Amino acid sequence: MPACTRCGGKPFFTRIYSGETLCSGCFRDSIADKTKRTISKYGMIGPRDRIAVAVSGGKDSLSLLRVLGELYLPRRDGIVSISVDEGLAGYRDEALEHARAVAQELGVEHVVVSYKDLFGFSLDEALNWKEERPVSSCSFCGVFRRRAIDEAALKAKATVVATAHNLDDYVQTFIMNLMHGDVERLGWLDPAYVDESFPVRRVKPFMEIYEEEVALYAFLSGVPFQSVSCPYMHEGLRSEVRDYLNMMEANHPGMKNVLFRSGLEVISRLAGSSLKETVPCRSCGKPSSNGFCSVCRMKAEVEEHVNMQRNPRAAGGG
Ligand code: SF4
Ligand code: ZN
Repeated sequence: MPACTRCGGKPFFTRIYSGETLCSGCFRDSIADKTKRTISKYGMIGPRDRIAVAVSGGKDSLSLLRVLGELYLPRRDGIVSISVDEGLAGYRDEALEHARAVAQELGVEHVVVSYKDLFGFSLDEALNWKEERPVSSCSFCGVFRRRAIDEAALKAKATVVATAHNLDDYVQTFIMNLMHGDVERLGWLDPAYVDESFPVRRVKPFMEIYEEEVALYAFLSGVPFQSVSCPYMHEGLRSEVRDYLNMMEANHPGMKNVLFRSGLEVISRLAGSSLKETVPCRSCGKPSSNGFCSVCRMKAEVEEHVNMQRNPRAAGGG
């Protein structure tokens, strides 16, 4: 491997799609540089913004908290870390512990909200169906998590929420929307699109960085890694798409970056044209496409099943 393109030091990583070879120090700096460029290119964060970093406690979100901490060092009170406790026994506790520790180390406030407090049930309870569930675990979890992040961001008085979605996540979501025939949702992937259904603006500062590079950054920065994965993570279509894209990248290096650029191009041509009008949800008042938002619809379904499990007789079980 040739020497570091930036400083001539010992090579650590070659970025296939750009041809750069970097030493570990320059590689680490390059992640902060790339994040800064993405933020500025899409006007993601302004000087007066209070940034809520959505921190699950996994390596990606802890890395984002560190990078944003480095970039916004002089005004750390402009950053707050927010975490959602879904109520997944044996999994989320460790992640929340990591989230708390890194926030404390950086000196940023850490706000935690739980599904139990917000919706009245934990994710474990919500997913404990005896018969077949109408949608995958991740679909349930994702709908509630987005609402929980909004609530945490409002509680933290943030003006913008930064999530750690990386280039791999972006390409996976793009392909999954195509597979679901969900063209409307492609518009949501436009980095310049502001989704009115979220009370606080959402940005993805890692969207131009490969997942593998975020993992290397985490490793070099001493970010703690979780010892267990979510028990539901291999259930959904996403894990199949992830495996397929990883195989394509291994056989054709740079393929994910090409797909990412193509996705952005398609989305920019669709900009605004594929987004439906919304009406206020009749139950919670949040925007919805047909009178009831997805949170209220799913919550009603889950409540019916949770009540049945807690009290089968009262719920009509005999
Ligand atoms: Fe939720 Fe799925 Fe992530 Fe588990 S893998 S935390 S169920 S979205
Ligand atoms: Zn609603």
